[in-house]
Amino acid sequence: MRFVFLGPPGVGKGTYASRVAPILGIAHISTGDIFREEIKKETELGKKVKSYLESGQLVPDEIVIEVLKQRIEEDDCKKGFILDGFPRTIKQAEELDKITKIDAVINIVLDEDLLVKKISARRICRNCGKIYNIADIRKGEIHLPPIAPKKEGICDDCGGELYQRDDDKEEVVRERLNVYYEQTAPLIDYYKNKGLIREITVTGGPDKMVPVILKIMKEYE
Ligand SMILES: [Zn+2]
Repeated sequence: MRFVFLGPPGVGKGTYASRVAPILGIAHISTGDIFREEIKKETELGKKVKSYLESGQLVPDEIVIEVLKQRIEEDDCKKGFILDGFPRTIKQAEELDKITKIDAVINIVLDEDLLVKKISARRICRNCGKIYNIADIRKGEIHLPPIAPKKEGICDDCGGELYQRDDDKEEVVRERLNVYYEQTAPLIDYYKNKGLIREITVTGGPDKMVPVILKIMKEYE
């Protein structure tokens, strides 16, 4: 069971991946998380990645692919894996095809206006990084319930102050989404041509969506 999760920033693909992976007994692989971990541990790879990021560059594809190649050979990937955050371009998808065979690409979509509302309602704890969402979003059959703190503006876990990242402000969100759609539209076509795309439209919170996603993924068990 080898999956790629695609979806715009803020759609919740990381949340869904982290919820379904343990149920299916497969690994949730986020290249961003791997790099953050390597940087923290100050490994050779971490130092290299850090220098790219500090100079404002993307980590080169060869490095990402090499890291993935090693990662998917680990024990927890025996039954399969979910790639979250990679590939983002056709070139990366082609490189990925050289090291493994993907069974399906789960493309998670959400109405753009709702997505903007959802992202701009995101609040993060300054202290521990926990993410909340203060909006109760409804449109037709769609209902995205809030993930609100018990006390307004205060983190449930650590009492830290909640804030809105500049990146999550509406104007910035629209721009980030435009970049995403421009970049990934060709990637979606690439996987469509291979017959691998499975589209999932978000109509509710994780409790509603996780079973829907699981049902599709289990077809590949
Ligand atoms: Zn906190």
